[in-house]
Amino acid sequence: MLFLARKQMLIRFSIATLVSFVFSTQFVNAQQGDPALTEVYSPVPPVVTPGKTNSDAPSDAIILFNGKNLDEWVLSKDTTKTATWKVADGIITVDKASGNIQTKKSFMDYQLHIEWRIPSNITGSGQARGNSGVFLASEGNGDGGYELQVLDNYNNSTYVNGQAGSIYKQAIPLANANKKPGEWQSYDVIWTAPRFNDDGSLKSPARVTVIFNGVLVQNNFELKGQTLYIGQPFYKAHGASPIKLQAHGDKSEPISYRNIWIRPL
Ligand code: MG
Repeated sequence: MLFLARKQMLIRFSIATLVSFVFSTQFVNAQQGDPALTEVYSPVPPVVTPGKTNSDAPSDAIILFNGKNLDEWVLSKDTTKTATWKVADGIITVDKASGNIQTKKSFMDYQLHIEWRIPSNITGSGQARGNSGVFLASEGNGDGGYELQVLDNYNNSTYVNGQAGSIYKQAIPLANANKKPGEWQSYDVIWTAPRFNDDGSLKSPARVTVIFNGVLVQNNFELKGQTLYIGQPFYKAHGASPIKLQAHGDKSEPISYRNIWIRPL
């Protein structure tokens, strides 16, 4: 007993010594000097008025789909033509026969918000169940670029680097945050475009952060190159690029998109 009491006293003494050391040296030192030396007053951040909810576009966003028309989108196979996916009741529904569509504008780094819905009557399995995709930067026709996968994985398994929230065949999502078919889902994406040297070699790779239905699924992931269905990804030099939505060739019911906005960074 006596021994234990002595041990406790020693522990208390040690803690008291430690506390007094912290307060007498480091803490006091932090209080000395001029606080103004570490205060910064410029550049002043611009005022941005947030939307009503965090899904609504803030005041400085470019609206890529306003619920009414596809004026900001063209067909990937003929970029002189306005996109021909279906617009009704404030939403876009993929028209597989038209092929991919892409933004008229090109972007480098950005913050993107996009919502998508798997139809409640979806059929199919694996990659053939509500497959689409958001190509975060994509030149030309076809599926070139960097694909953030869109797929129904609420109750549908596939290879994990090909499920919703993956960077297709490069990055497994950190969580399966899928909602049921029929419910609207969202991606919030922070994209840092790759940079290239004048000779076309890679200067700095693309990076992406993705929040899927409020859940972080890609955390500043460094991409290995453009998405490939077969083989290892690699980079090909490009500059500012459109964002492309995928009309996937599977036979399942087409999915829908709405509320798409972007803030170039
Ligand atoms: Mg896809």
